[in-house]
Amino acid sequence: MHQPSVIVVGGGAMGSSVACELARRGHPVTVLEQHGMLHAHGSSHGSSRIVRLVYDDPFYVRLAVAARPLWDELQEQSDVEVFRRTGGVDHGPRELLEPFAAALDEAGVAFEWLTAGEASLRWPGLRFDQTVLFQPDAGVAHPDHTLTMLQRDAIAHGAAWHPHTRVDAIDETTDGVRVTVGERTFSADQVVLTAGIWSHRLADLPSDTATQVQPAHFMPVDPATPWPTFIHRRADERGDPMPEAYGLPSPDGIKVGFHGGGKIVDPDDRDFAVVADEVADLRTYVGQWVPGVDAATLDSGTCLHGGLAEDDFIIDRTGRLTVAAGFSGHGFKFVPLVGRMVADLVAGTAEPQHRFTVSAHRTTI
Ligand SMILES: Cc1cc2nc3c(=O)[nH]c(=O)nc-3n(C[C@H](O)[C@H](O)[C@H](O)COP(=O)(O)OP(=O)(O)OC[C@H]3O[C@@H](n4cnc5c(N)ncnc54)[C@H](O)[C@@H]3O)c2cc1C
Repeated sequence: MHQPSVIVVGGGAMGSSVACELARRGHPVTVLEQHGMLHAHGSSHGSSRIVRLVYDDPFYVRLAVAARPLWDELQEQSDVEVFRRTGGVDHGPRELLEPFAAALDEAGVAFEWLTAGEASLRWPGLRFDQTVLFQPDAGVAHPDHTLTMLQRDAIAHGAAWHPHTRVDAIDETTDGVRVTVGERTFSADQVVLTAGIWSHRLADLPSDTATQVQPAHFMPVDPATPWPTFIHRRADERGDPMPEAYGLPSPDGIKVGFHGGGKIVDPDDRDFAVVADEVADLRTYVGQWVPGVDAATLDSGTCLHGGLAEDDFIIDRTGRLTVAAGFSGHGFKFVPLVGRMVADLVAGTAEPQHRFTVSAHRTTI
């Protein structure tokens, strides 16, 4: 059967997944990426991302439940580690954890409440002072390995990958799409835009703001200590929520960061410099709450976050253009699922989900 040809603009996590899925389904695929095959200019590099089912919104719990077995499938197909199940804990005041438990209940996902004492016995590298919600299916994905695997598979199924190829414009023509790269043009039946934080520059989308965030790695004191993924849902003395701290085991050490924050940057002209105050805050946090690492071993890097419509993604199709963007700080766990969702939109076998449409975002902005 003739499958429409597709140009994928942006070869980060989402573009790699989309290209792989489309190529597997027999579409002629061309990927245009402004940087190299793997690079540190976007949001998809490094050695670790949390894959969790715990959200306070049953919609996202269900989405994560749909994505989760696809990680096991990817791992089964890989001879390097792309995903490892570790279990995950959310800890903090019970009232901050209740909405997450309610959403898990509503979506039928198993979890366990633990006391601080029980959790400390299982994971001595962390300090717990209040309530702990344990969800056993969480784990850690390895972005660099995942992207390499998806890109190789896409190319093995015929995809043409063009690194260092920056798209200037996307235009619909009467019988297809024309994508302009300097003096060159590429043509296809359809185009998929997966340009992360840059997407709104190439299509009529709500504008996005890039922030540079800086999680850090710390060396464990005892390499034999078991680590779950963790999110510390914190409150101040008045009980008001504070920025969450998160962490996870990775090949580079125990990664710890704060959710949100970071300075606003131009994604094409950023300094990659770590902010000393934020480093000091991380070190203080780790000294207080993560006794299983050596706080002196901090090794920090930077990554781009977007804030497009805060939390909801855009996975939508208009005419010959399908967009998958706005994944911000929590998209990686959905990577294999997004490839399939987008391929279904391209094929016209699925409708966009309302919350992921551009029009839904415009009404919330
Ligand atoms: C520090 C950090 C921690 C995170 N932790 C987690 C986590 O624990 N769990 C989780 O689920 N998610 C997490 N995320 C989020 C997740 O990593 C992102 O949502 C995801 O990687 C976004 O992928 P993307 O492909 O949409 O964007 P990107 O990776 O930014 O890819 C977009 C690509 O498009 C290319 N591009 C842009 N413009 C053009 C153009 N004009 N022409 C050609 N190419 C172009 C870019 O170069 C880039 O390669 C984290 C993100 C960060 C930064």
